[in-house]
Amino acid sequence: MNLHEYQGKEILAQHGVNVQRGVVLDDLNEIENVSKKLVEETGTDWFVVKAQIHAGGRGKGGGVKIAKSKDDLKDVVSSILGMNLITPQTSKEGKLVRKVLIAEDVYYPGESETEEFYVSILLNRKTGQNMIMYSTEGGVDIESVAEKTPELIFYEDIDPLLGILPFQARKIAFNLGLSGKSFKEMVKFISLLYKSYVSSDSSLFEINPVLKTSDNKIMAVDAKVTLDDNALFRHNDYSKWRDLKEENPVEVEARELGLNYVDLDGNVGCMVNGAGLAMATMDLIKQSGGDPANFLDVGGTADAKRVEAAFRLILKDPNVKAILVNIFGGIVRCDRVAQGIVDAYNNLKNISVPIIVRLQGTNAEIAKEIIDNCDFKVYSATEFQEAADKIQEVLY
Ligand code: GDP
Ligand code: MN
Repeated sequence: MNLHEYQGKEILAQHGVNVQRGVVLDDLNEIENVSKKLVEETGTDWFVVKAQIHAGGRGKGGGVKIAKSKDDLKDVVSSILGMNLITPQTSKEGKLVRKVLIAEDVYYPGESETEEFYVSILLNRKTGQNMIMYSTEGGVDIESVAEKTPELIFYEDIDPLLGILPFQARKIAFNLGLSGKSFKEMVKFISLLYKSYVSSDSSLFEINPVLKTSDNKIMAVDAKVTLDDNALFRHNDYSKWRDLKEENPVEVEARELGLNYVDLDGNVGCMVNGAGLAMATMDLIKQSGGDPANFLDVGGTADAKRVEAAFRLILKDPNVKAILVNIFGGIVRCDRVAQGIVDAYNNLKNISVPIIVRLQGTNAEIAKEIIDNCDFKVYSATEFQEAADKIQEVLY
């Protein structure tokens, strides 16, 4: 589950990480009250207004702007709230901005220069450990740093049993070129950030930029957080943060039906039972020259109702040119699944794309007969390769 910046910052604040003071606003009518309170609380009337959408690169798209007075604030907020924001990370249609974060501007002038760094914590799947990735090149998009100057990105693996060790936090602060007060602040920042990441069961905490203010404080100016869905049951207080409006509507519907569905860009819909088989099936589709349109694990009970629900979800994607059903009948009987496919086909009426069905396991022969004897554009395949060839045949 992805969080908005303001939600991620709430987790950070709970763990003692410095973040700007601010408020979230979704109604322009509230602006007078809110700005009055903010000015009193912060003692400044320079603010940054930031669109809250589940995508980065907002600054580039005009979703992050500075207001230098209370009056200016209203204009800036009204120019962002309700806008359609297009960034390098949204689709080309962009996203409607339903909320903004108004926060104190922390780039104030002072005794030293401000500096922007990049710090993220994520799961390194190669080592099976959490990893801190960091760079002096903050504020800009890290992908282009990785491409052009990869030597400016550093990595620190963290042993999950030991947690982050003091020398590791010091090494990071040192590599970022800090000394004196800002060095100490960065050491503290890194340790608290790691604590936030672990205790919230996140799989990503990306802070870009981390700011060294002109008075040498270290602060999280942005926060991109992904919580591990499998651990959400341990955090009831986070469920209120799920923003269904920001999520893919088909994925939301699938979750309600208890189906494990991830939307992808390709042209072959797949319906599979078991995550491992689903991955292998997606490889198979690639190999045959197609591109998977989705990941869909219908789970252990591939009964007629679920099969029909899965077809309905897959067919919502206009890019789907063919569907591959690849189900292993272990507990579930293949003939039941085959009958479920035929019934779903009849019930849905609008299936116009060819369907290739590979059913292996209990009663596979009976299942094949059911598929072969129906008079729709449904083809059976017994072997993996046969299914791949069939896909190629119907696509080209
Ligand atoms: P993103 O573009 O979606 O990654 O949004 P960020 O929160 O990272 O903001 C984009 C850029 O706006 C940052 O890299 C900063 O340079 C700038 N920015 C963010 N907050 C402030 C602020 O409080 N004051 C000023 N002057 N600039 C800010
Ligand atoms: Mn950012």
